[in-house]
Parts: sequence; C-alpha cells; structure tokens
Amino acid sequence: MIESKAQEPDLACREFVEMVTAYLEGALDEQASLAVQSHLSHCPGCDVYLAQMLATIAAVGHVPVESLSSTAKADLTAAFRDFHMRAR
Ligand SMILES: [Zn+2]
Repeated sequence: MIESKAQEPDLACREFVEMVTAYLEGALDEQASLAVQSHLSHCPGCDVYLAQMLATIAAVGHVPVESLSSTAKADLTAAFRDFHMRAR
C-alpha cells in the first residue's frame, strides 16, 4: 500500500543513511519514519544497507553508531550512487 502523494518527502540515500540509526532506535517522529519506509520501498541499495545494519545490531547488540564515521558514510553514499547508476 504505497500512496504516492505530493505530501510524501523523497529522501536522498545520504539522508536515509543519516536517519537510519534514529529510525532503528525509534527516535524518529511519524513523518520521518514514513519517509524512511517510503525510501526503503523503492531503493534496493538502502534496503540492503538496512539488512546489514540489522545483522550488525544482532551481532553487537546495539546500533553501531560509532562505526559510522563520516568517511564510511561518504563511502556508502558513493556506493549507493554507483549502485543506482548500474541499476538503470
Ligand atoms: Zn536509497
């Protein structure tokens, strides 16, 4: 049930990566959570990222905020860009 209304904000992958830890911690408000879920529904790259995140959390027992340095974020964003380009 995806409603593509103008109201729905379209996240960039970079924004998704920045929001996903808060999303997993339940720290986002309803609108932000919906934006994250909406992005997941149409972005396979971030879907995989979330799955890896969940696997990491299962392994270490908490959201690995410390492991996401800004360099790692930059690498991820580049990887997503590459993914999207090849997916076309
Ligand atoms: Zn994405």
